[in-house]
Amino acid sequence: MKQYIRYEEQGKPHYGQVTPEGVYGLEGPPWHEIQPTGWMGQLEDLKILTPVEPSKIICIGVNYADHAAERGSDVPKEPVLFLKPPSTLIGPDDSIRYPPQSQHVDYEGELAVVIGKRIFCPDPVQARQAIFGYVIANDVTARDLQRSDEQWTRGKGFDTFCPVGPVINVDVDLGSREIETRLNGEAKQRSNVSNMVFDVEYLVHYCAQVMTLLPGDIILTGTPSGVGPMTPGDTVEVEIEGFGVLRNFIVAPGE
Ligand code: MG
Repeated sequence: MKQYIRYEEQGKPHYGQVTPEGVYGLEGPPWHEIQPTGWMGQLEDLKILTPVEPSKIICIGVNYADHAAERGSDVPKEPVLFLKPPSTLIGPDDSIRYPPQSQHVDYEGELAVVIGKRIFCPDPVQARQAIFGYVIANDVTARDLQRSDEQWTRGKGFDTFCPVGPVINVDVDLGSREIETRLNGEAKQRSNVSNMVFDVEYLVHYCAQVMTLLPGDIILTGTPSGVGPMTPGDTVEVEIEGFGVLRNFIVAPGE
């Protein structure tokens, strides 16, 4: 398995590869053929940024049967797609800002697929080959606004509503990894990525029939059961077995 991050060094963002010896700076995004810069540092000394700069964030709604049951809806026959604007992105340890328009903001711990190749209407093999790696995400949702609005754009689209990180995991078998979301240290969502209704290859192929996927784009693959509200002062963590922990803090609108 290889792991890549984005980090800040002397005020500038860089991509890097995480190794047991330390972090090696890279000349560009790891999905291109890129060279080491010669710079090396230690992970604990770095400000870690969100590891992707997507042109779009595609999300899948209701992709775990247990989550469909808790919403009182059927498992969809085809994937449900929606988008979050790239302005929702934040990195590990960044703050999720509670919007003043909402009284109910939920966490949704999710696995996200990172695209490594430009594809449009690929065959299933090309779609599979376009998967660069996997990252942890939190599809933060203003549930009251999602319910009151015909479209989900407002409830899903506030700035800071898409924490992603800390590392992109590459050359891994997704297998049956545990996914867990914790609120203030208490487990709230516990499932396994093997419980998805539509698997990652199907989702990439499906999305690429609709829109051109570009390197660095991400697809959030849906959340298991156990979604619930957060309030300012809370700490939320999403962990996927072997992929790290994505931690963020909830702050009031003015903070
Ligand atoms: Mg979601």
